[in-house]
Amino acid sequence: MRALVKTKKGKGFIEIEDVPIPHHSSNEVLIKVKVAGICGTDIHIWHDKMLYWPPVIMGHEFSGEIIKVGADVIGWKVGDRVVAEPHTRACGVCWLCRSGNIHICPHKRSIGWGIDGAFAEYIKMPSHLLHKIPGNVSYEEAALCEPAAIALNCVLLTSRVKPGDFVVVEGTGAVGLLAAMAARAAGAGKIMITGVEQDEKVRLKVARELGFETLNVERENIQEKVSILSKEKGADLVVEAAGVEASIDTAIKITRRMGDIAILGITGQKKVNILWDEAVFKVLNIRFCFSSTYESWERCLFLMSERIINTSPLITHTATLEEWEKLFSQLEKGNGIKGIFIF
Ligand SMILES: [Zn+2]
Ligand SMILES: [Zn+2]
Repeated sequence: MRALVKTKKGKGFIEIEDVPIPHHSSNEVLIKVKVAGICGTDIHIWHDKMLYWPPVIMGHEFSGEIIKVGADVIGWKVGDRVVAEPHTRACGVCWLCRSGNIHICPHKRSIGWGIDGAFAEYIKMPSHLLHKIPGNVSYEEAALCEPAAIALNCVLLTSRVKPGDFVVVEGTGAVGLLAAMAARAAGAGKIMITGVEQDEKVRLKVARELGFETLNVERENIQEKVSILSKEKGADLVVEAAGVEASIDTAIKITRRMGDIAILGITGQKKVNILWDEAVFKVLNIRFCFSSTYESWERCLFLMSERIINTSPLITHTATLEEWEKLFSQLEKGNGIKGIFIF
């Protein structure tokens, strides 16, 4: 089968290779990949900016159809349309795994960087990580379930938005826009997405088309705008999905006293310089969000089937596996939101 492989450590070293179809064990299923989404982490692996175990088939966001079922698998059959949590190799015995938090198990090695992933014609997956795609959700839409589940886990399950809340989402990437949709699903009142000049062409435009208020921080004063919109109270919840020091700092400034900040972005810096004391005096709740849980995937698929979370407007680029380099370059420039491979 054809697969996009990071062949060894270092910058570059990505090749399309002809590799054997994976052999599934008795508790695994073999899946024909239909659609796979490209994530920022895939670009980081390309540039050697994160941890990975080469040679490895890339890709952790996908949808597909089961074509083989292991002998011990219960509840799944050939022909089922599925998505899968990427939490492979979670140990199952540590404190985190036993308390239902396999997504942060220190032994986890996810598909796409830890073990072979979804930028290939076929992938094998342990059956306990599978979720069924609702009949009215397409493979294209479902392929974005992983980033959607991350956003949902953060905004709906970790931060608990309340009806009528004023929510500000900093960052216009797929996860930022999905976080805004999750806030809307929870009954938030006003939702504003902030971006920069470069986001005007596509990302902020899509945000507006999705019905969100937008603000370009390079053109407008965010503190003033939040103050006007909230009648000087401040935002009830700020979701930091940009991963930039300046936006973490801004989050502290614009959140109301005793308000919530939910952190989704990763800065890539060793340390960040933020208004720590201001956060203390305002008695802010700062919550860190990472990855996705079983519950967030199930709730996400429900919201997708109800069209409350709609991932299709976020798909700005479609390509074949052979076109990977062009696609990665376009996404890296911020010219789109989400790119997908169609098999
Ligand atoms: Zn991802
Ligand atoms: Zn564990």
